[in-house]
Amino acid sequence: MNLARFPRIRLGHMPTPLEPMERLTKHLGGPKLWIKRDDCTGLSTGGNKTRKLEFLCADAIAKGADILITQGATQSNHARQTAAAAAKLGLACHILLEDRTGYADPAYTESGNVLMDRLHGASVSRRPGGADMQAEMEAVAEEMRGAGRKPYVIPGGGSNPVGALGYVNAAQELVTQASDMGLRIDHLVHATGSAGTQAGLVAGLVALNSGIPVLGIGVRAPKPKQEANVLALAERTMAHLGLPALVKAEHVVANCDYVGQGYGIPTEGMVEAVKLVAEQEGILLDPVYSGKGMAGLIDLISKGFFGKDQNVVFLHTGGQVGLFGYPQAFGLAADAAR
Ligand SMILES: *Cc1c(COP(=O)(O)O)cnc(C)c1O
Repeated sequence: MNLARFPRIRLGHMPTPLEPMERLTKHLGGPKLWIKRDDCTGLSTGGNKTRKLEFLCADAIAKGADILITQGATQSNHARQTAAAAAKLGLACHILLEDRTGYADPAYTESGNVLMDRLHGASVSRRPGGADMQAEMEAVAEEMRGAGRKPYVIPGGGSNPVGALGYVNAAQELVTQASDMGLRIDHLVHATGSAGTQAGLVAGLVALNSGIPVLGIGVRAPKPKQEANVLALAERTMAHLGLPALVKAEHVVANCDYVGQGYGIPTEGMVEAVKLVAEQEGILLDPVYSGKGMAGLIDLISKGFFGKDQNVVFLHTGGQVGLFGYPQAFGLAADAAR
């Protein structure tokens, strides 16, 4: 596997640290918990989309783009990192935000990631929940082409075979890091949404014959749909890498029991997980993805899913800025309106 064949622009701080979570491990009574800090990728407070954008932006520039277009939910971390990448590369950026939650309070609609989208100079437009966001982006791109611009459309979450290369690269990085530390990783757990992170990890870990199983904790779709999305993208990513079809359905596992009422809607487990990790480790998770991912990990630990002596790595995918969009969820705001 030679990733250097693919155009890439460095945007992030890598390798990201792989650290033990000693107090959390003790608090939960094992397994041995580790954290891979992809919240520390550096670009505009970091997160997992930076790895994907290194390959996506290189492709955009190779194709002569002058503006990036992407989409996400109102508090999209992907949108924020895309706006920052565009700023760094001197490209314009237009973001379409979908109202997936119906929350109308100004913290949610204007603070957190939305504030940063604007700080990075992106223009922002909004669409109602349930809109066909890919079609909406294509329509905006068509209009821009008519006006002489050269748009490059990045799918939601940056999840296509080009973006997923970022997590093939992360798989390689993690395996090297663990072997340097003499660490046998028994399980890799992370929050899965638009599927590119898990697809890239699975493709990379299978291609490396690492034997490390990946467990995605879903934040939106039900399990059959999430697993089908990840598998399809992992297969396309292997093909893009020029590798044989080594990824099988058994390599793709998602647990979607921790979504709660829906994407971006807080759950009790998420709130507890965010508070616990903040208090035990001094690490901030986020309300939409890593908080629900950690809630799933904690619940599975309590159910004996992992051996006490196993080493379980939680991939922290970032998103802490989203906390500022959800002050009420943590019972910390004076106005507990929602
Ligand atoms: C986008 C995102 C994820 C999910 O990654 P996908 O590649 O979309 O599955 C997880 N955590 C955070 C913080 C994210 O922003």
